[in-house]
Amino acid sequence: MANPLEHCADCVELLGEYIDGSLPPERAEALEAHLSLCPPCITFVRTYKATRALCRHKLAREMPAELKSSLQAFLAKNVPGYRTPGDGGGEKN
Ligand SMILES: [Zn+2]
Repeated sequence: MANPLEHCADCVELLGEYIDGSLPPERAEALEAHLSLCPPCITFVRTYKATRALCRHKLAREMPAELKSSLQAFLAKNVPGYRTPGDGGGEKN
């Protein structure tokens, strides 16, 4: 059983990793325990998630097509199992 984090500051430090899913399970549990007791932190998480989603979309929209395709080519080459979206020219979005 993990101890809840005592300070909101500790919580905030872990949030980035928590949202990325890279936080170790026991730390994530402690964070969730704190969140369940601390409404301001819940609000913060919601805002943080929304902001990150917005940034990602904005970034994806503004990324030049050449950069996007060379990034995809790089990933396809270096990441086993990575599939290029729209591979085969069937893009419908
Ligand atoms: Zn808090």
